[in-house]
Amino acid sequence: MESLDLKISGMHCESCVRVVEKALRRAAGVGDASVNFAAGKASVIYDPALTSPELLVAEIVNKGYGARVIEAVDTAGDDRLYHEEVRALRTQLIVGAIFAVPALVLGMSMMQAPPWWHGYALWFLATPVQFYVGGPFYRGALAALKNRSSTMDTLVTLGTSAAYGYSLYLLLFEGGGADQYFETSAVLITLVVFGKYLEAVSRRRTSEAIRKLEKLFPGEASVIRNGVEARVPVGEVDPDETVVVRPGEQVPLDGEIIRGRTTLDESMVTGESIPVARGEGDPVIGSTINREGVFSMRVTRVGSETMLARIIRLVEDAQMRKAPVQRFADRVSSWFVPAVIAVAAATFLVWFFLLDAEPGFALVAAVSVLVIACPCALGLATPTAIMVGTGMGAAEGILIKGGAALETAGSLDHVVFDKTGTITRAEPRVTAVRVREDAGERRCIAIAAGLERGSEHPLAAAVVKKAEAEGIEPLEMDGFTAHPGRGVEALVEGTRYRIGSVRFIAESGTDTEYFRETVEAFEREGTTTVMLAGEGGPLAVFALRDTVRPDAADAVAGLHAMGLRTAMITGDNERVARTIARETGIMSFRAGVLPGEKADVIAGLQREGRVAMIGDGINDAPALARADIGIAMGSGTDIAMEAGDVVFMKDDLLSLPRAIRLSRLTMGRIRLNMFWALFYNVVGIPVAAGLLYPWTGWLLSPMIAGGAMAMSSVSVVLSSLMLRTKKF
Ligand code: ADP
Ligand code: MG
Repeated sequence: MESLDLKISGMHCESCVRVVEKALRRAAGVGDASVNFAAGKASVIYDPALTSPELLVAEIVNKGYGARVIEAVDTAGDDRLYHEEVRALRTQLIVGAIFAVPALVLGMSMMQAPPWWHGYALWFLATPVQFYVGGPFYRGALAALKNRSSTMDTLVTLGTSAAYGYSLYLLLFEGGGADQYFETSAVLITLVVFGKYLEAVSRRRTSEAIRKLEKLFPGEASVIRNGVEARVPVGEVDPDETVVVRPGEQVPLDGEIIRGRTTLDESMVTGESIPVARGEGDPVIGSTINREGVFSMRVTRVGSETMLARIIRLVEDAQMRKAPVQRFADRVSSWFVPAVIAVAAATFLVWFFLLDAEPGFALVAAVSVLVIACPCALGLATPTAIMVGTGMGAAEGILIKGGAALETAGSLDHVVFDKTGTITRAEPRVTAVRVREDAGERRCIAIAAGLERGSEHPLAAAVVKKAEAEGIEPLEMDGFTAHPGRGVEALVEGTRYRIGSVRFIAESGTDTEYFRETVEAFEREGTTTVMLAGEGGPLAVFALRDTVRPDAADAVAGLHAMGLRTAMITGDNERVARTIARETGIMSFRAGVLPGEKADVIAGLQREGRVAMIGDGINDAPALARADIGIAMGSGTDIAMEAGDVVFMKDDLLSLPRAIRLSRLTMGRIRLNMFWALFYNVVGIPVAAGLLYPWTGWLLSPMIAGGAMAMSSVSVVLSSLMLRTKKF
C-alpha cells in the first residue's frame, strides 16, 4: 500500500467532500481515503498494483472536481491554486456587482406602474448574473445530481432558478408589471459569491502556520567540494558533504558539527526561544539560525528526510485526519440538504394551497428557506479550528497528530509519566561504586563499561562515562544481549557477565546477598542501583543519580490545576520512585515495572478514564501505543516522532499542560462553531418559511437569507481564526 496526497479544487461544502470521498473509497485498489475541506486536500492509501495516481485523479475529475497530485512539499503549487481560486471568485464577484446593483436599484425604485421596458431591463441585468456568475453553482449541482446527491450548489441553483424562472414566466406570459424577482436572484447569487470569496481569503489564514514553516526552507549552502567552498542550492547538497555555516546564516540541512562551536536559535523548529550552545559532535537542525560562531558540519539528512520537512508533513497529515466530532457534521449535512428541499417545497405548498397566498409570496418564502438552510458553515466548523489549533501548537514545538489526538487530549482524566528521560533528564551520573573485596575496582569498571558500551540506555552511558573519567579503558566484549528494562549481558575474555537491576541479577540465578546492605543503603538515599555479576557471583554495585527536570513539579502542578490525575511508572526501584514522586508532586507511582508491563498498567488505569502516557518513546513505545494518547518527548528523535500521537520538539515538560490546554481550547471552539452554524439554520428556517408572518409580518427576504448564509460561513472561519488570540 502506498499513500498519496491530492489537491482538490471546486469543492463548495461538506457535501462535496462526501462526494469526493465516496468516489475515492469506491475506486478499485483504494484502502482508505479522507478529504479535508478546509485544506482542499485528499489523502489516499492505495495499492499501486491495482490503481495509479492518474486513475485516482481521473476518478475525481469524473465527478466534476479538479484534482492534482501533491509532491512532497509544494508551496508554489498550493499558492498558485489559491490565487487561481481567489481570482476566479473576484471576477465573479465584480461581474455580479456590476449587474446586480443596478438591478436592485431598478427593481426597488419603480414599484408602482413601471414602464413597459422595466421588466425587460431587469431580465437583461439578471441574466449574466444568473448564468455566468452563477455558472459554477449550476455545474456543481449537476455534478452532484450525477452522483445522485445534493449539495449547497443544489440549494442555490434551485432557489435562484425558481426566482428567475418565475419572473421570466410573468414577464413573457403575464405582461410583467411590478411582480418580478429578477433582482432577488441576481443579488442572492452575488451575495453567495461574496461570502465564498471572504471565506476563501480567511480560510487560507487558517493554514498560515504551515506556510510559515515552509518559508523556512533555506535556499543555498556553502559546500566544501575538492577543498574549495562553493555556494550551491540546498537541493544539490548530498548527505556526508561538508558545509560551512557563518554567523547570521541559516543552517542549510540537518547534520552534525565537525569543527567549531556556536549558539543556535532553534525556536522555529522546537519553539524553544533561548538559543542553545552546540559544539563538535552535536546535531544541528536545518533551517535554524546560527547566532555566533563559524562552524563546519557534516550533512546527515537532505530533502524530505530533514526534520523540517518531516514536521511539515506531520502537521499536514494531522490537519487531514478528521476529528471524531467531524462525523457529527458529516451526518447532519448528509440529510440536511434533502430535508431542506422538502421543507422548502412544503413551505410553498402550504402558503399557496392552504393559505391562499400569492404565488410570488409562496415562492419567496420557499427560496428563502432553500438559501438560509445551507449547511456550509457546519462543514467548516471542525476543520478550520483544527487547522488553527494544530498550527498554533506547531509554532510552539507541540505537534499534535490530528483531530482525534486533539479531541482525546482535550478530554483526559489521567496522565502517566515514564520516569527516566521524562521526569528526569536521563543524564544520570555514577555517584558511588562498591566492589567485592577480592575484585579490583578498576577491573570491575572496565568490565562494566565494556558491557554498557553496547547499550543505548542512559544508565549505560553513565557507566561508560565513569570509566572515561577514571581513565579506564573498557574491555572488549562479544555475544551482547540486551534485556530491556532489566539490563544487559555479554562475554568478556570468555566469561559471562551481567549488569542491570538487582532483580535482573537475582533472577538470572546469582545470589545477591553479599551486597544486600550496600544496596539497601543506596536505595534509601534514593539512588538507582545497578549490579555487576560474573559467573562466580556479584562483583560490584553502582549508585547512579539522575536529576529531576526543573520544570517537572510545575508541569505536574499545572495538570492538577486542570483537574487531571497523575502517575509515574518506572522500571527503577521503589525508593527512587518514591523520592521522585515526592519531589515532583506526582500523585501515585508504580516501581519495578518491566517495559512490557507498562502497557498493562496503562490498561488498568483506562478502566477509570482516558489516559495519556508521556515518555521518550525509546523503551515505552508499547505503553505509548496502549494509552488513549501517547505523548513523546524526545527533542525530535526519530523514534519519538514516530511513537507519539503528540510530539514535543522542545525538551520541556511544561509543553504537556500547554498541549492539553490548547486541545481543550480548540475543542471548545469547535463546539462553539457548530452551535453557531446550526443556530443560523435552526432559527433561520422557520422565519424564512414565514412561520412568524401571520403574527409579526416578518418574512425573511431571500436577499437577507443569502447574506446570512454567506456570513455564517465567514463567521465560523473567523471564529476559528480568533483562536489565535488565545493564550495556552
Ligand atoms: P525506566 O522505567 O525508568 O525508564 P527502564 O525500564 O529503562 O527504566 O530500566 C529499568 C531498570 O533496569 C533500570 O533502573 C536499571 O536498573 C535496569 N537496566 C535497564 N537497562 C540497563 C542497562 N543497560 N544497564 C544497567 N541497568 C539497566
Ligand atoms: Mg525509559
